[in-house]
Amino acid sequence: MSVVVRFAPSPTGLLHVGNIRLALVNWLFARKAGGRLLLRLDDTDDERSTPTFAAGIERDLGWLGLDWDLKARQSDRLALYAGAADRLKVAGRLYPCYESPEELGLKRKSLLARGLPPLYDRAALALPAADRARLEAEGRRPHWRFRLDHQPVGWTDLVRGPAHFDGADLSDPVLVREDGRTLYTLSSVVDDIAFGISHVIRGEDHVANTAVQSQLWQALDGPVPAFAHLPLLTDAAGHGLSKRLGSLSIASLRDDDGIEAMALLSLLARLGTADAVEPHLTLDELIGSFDLDRVSRATPRFDPEDLLRLNARLLHLTPFAAMAGRLAALGLDGADERFWLAVRPNLTRLSDAARWWQVSHGTVTPTLSDPALMARAAALLPPEPWDETTWGSWIDRVRSATGLKGKALFLPLRLALTGCDHGPELKNLLPLIGRRRAEARLNGLTA
Ligand code: GLU
Repeated sequence: MSVVVRFAPSPTGLLHVGNIRLALVNWLFARKAGGRLLLRLDDTDDERSTPTFAAGIERDLGWLGLDWDLKARQSDRLALYAGAADRLKVAGRLYPCYESPEELGLKRKSLLARGLPPLYDRAALALPAADRARLEAEGRRPHWRFRLDHQPVGWTDLVRGPAHFDGADLSDPVLVREDGRTLYTLSSVVDDIAFGISHVIRGEDHVANTAVQSQLWQALDGPVPAFAHLPLLTDAAGHGLSKRLGSLSIASLRDDDGIEAMALLSLLARLGTADAVEPHLTLDELIGSFDLDRVSRATPRFDPEDLLRLNARLLHLTPFAAMAGRLAALGLDGADERFWLAVRPNLTRLSDAARWWQVSHGTVTPTLSDPALMARAAALLPPEPWDETTWGSWIDRVRSATGLKGKALFLPLRLALTGCDHGPELKNLLPLIGRRRAEARLNGLTA
């Protein structure tokens, strides 16, 4: 069987880390199996879907390197859904209903008040033809429900294991609205059949939909795919994520927080599995170790602090070649491998490099805790050329001249040379700063 999966976001908001986890799992599943991934934009809700959000989805996926083999927009496929609804009507599986939202709300309330599940009572199925004709004559437009078979439904979920439902415990779902528009429950199945989707991998908020939809697949003569429902991510405090939650949106992690795409992907690929989270430099590395069987049913928490730590670990092992263009884009023209290797261990975000660029190639106002000591140290600076051994030989001379050692010596030197009490190893930084700047700074000059 050829593997075809889909990622089907609705362009009604910004993608967040939970959405991307599903995109990533689908992507890894497809790539590992040599299959295909469909990007499907579920944009039939035209009050809430916008082209801007649709473009944002493609931008986020593009940034992460999660490419797709096929793309479809549900708004281009409405005729197909209407055709499927007609076939279901002909087969007697769709029936017209005339209740208003208020009437339905009252029915629900009264069932709940009696401690009963709020199932639709199928009153419309029993509506005499004369009543229907009267309602139509009054100008009432029906919505259409799918008549479920009252029999067991089940599947072996690739994440949750055996799942059992009974059609009798489910409400007949509305598939077509009063205005004739078809709803997600139907359009999703029509598309999954049309695109030959082999595995539906989505959030566990869709488990009840799957129970209903598995009957739809049968009614539409489509092969029923395999299912995997992943638990939804929560934030660090255990609360659900929503598209309106700005801070965990992919756009804000990228643009405001300067997170590396591979840090985010490395974390999301492991979250909810028992496997250790490690920084991976390429998606290829993640494909190799991906296995849907490793995803557990437990609800994973997404902690931005974990992401930041992983981002730092990833930067610490990223080679210069992978960063040259990004450093130039940050405005650090001329940043070379020596600079990168010197500052890399001190970065949490790539943008932190700008600060060390300022120290090594820009201007710094030194902090002088002991001007006389610094002046003596300046006088002992060796002539250039300088390399990574310069610091050691210079420090030996300063140590024997002053009798100072350890922190008492290093901290004032660091403050003078960099204007800051922490940072990359001075052994690596000193040759980048160069003799002219070092001497001036030790003498208290901004240089
Ligand atoms: N548009 C639906 C959602 O975002 C798709 C669900 C599915 O994968 O079937 O929840």
